[in-house]
Amino acid sequence: MKKAATVLWCSLLFFLHSYAQDTYSEKRKQMVESQLITRGIKDKATLNAMRTVERHQLVPGTQTRYAYEDRPLPIGYGQTISQPYIVAYMTETIRPEAGMKILEIGTGSGYQAAILAEIVDRVYTVEIVDSLGRRAQKKLRDLGYKNIHVKLGDGYFGWEEHAPFDAIIVTAATEYIPPPLMEQLKEDGKMVIPVGAPFTAQYLMLVKKKNGKIKTQKLLPVRFVPFTRSD
Ligand code: SAH
Repeated sequence: MKKAATVLWCSLLFFLHSYAQDTYSEKRKQMVESQLITRGIKDKATLNAMRTVERHQLVPGTQTRYAYEDRPLPIGYGQTISQPYIVAYMTETIRPEAGMKILEIGTGSGYQAAILAEIVDRVYTVEIVDSLGRRAQKKLRDLGYKNIHVKLGDGYFGWEEHAPFDAIIVTAATEYIPPPLMEQLKEDGKMVIPVGAPFTAQYLMLVKKKNGKIKTQKLLPVRFVPFTRSD
């Protein structure tokens, strides 16, 4: 009798879990259609990654149910995860492909790193807030991402041991583009970075390196949390 009750209970839990997973995958599909495709995101690899990565598993538990909404969400320590459109836009801008090695500055929840890891070979990501970096590292490991490497520290200096990178994504707003990041970008590489002084307008910039020279282009007005420095 006791065994039967346990089996029944486990089946119910399994059913509820599968139901929740189906609901989230449906929400992800809708997010891709209504927030990304209608706003012009076209890159197939980016759209597939956005359909695949379980954003609800990477945001804090209090935010799970809002994971697929069209807005940024708090992830603790005064930080936020960008709205899905901005993540997709930044990803599409660097044109990620299999075989690439990418650097991200500002691991946060680990979501942007996971999106990149679905497409490219290796993702190196640096986070300045220890607890956030550790949390993301554990979550990403639990979700099975073996090609994401997290470092705790000041991303101003990039990650020299693994440079140069095919592309760099910075997810916190800087007042200027950190010179070490420009150095660690490969020839013909692309970097997307929000630039702007605190409390002023920020622009997402595309930075390209051609023949050793840096060219910048303004893309979109944005609002990111500030790039902070370790003392
Ligand atoms: N890419 C993240 C978004 C994180 S918000 C995601 O997908 O969830 C920006 C992150 O940048 C925050 O976690 C913040 O702590 C981090 N950050 C700010 N300044 C930094 C720096 N100098 N080096 C590394 N990380 C930094």
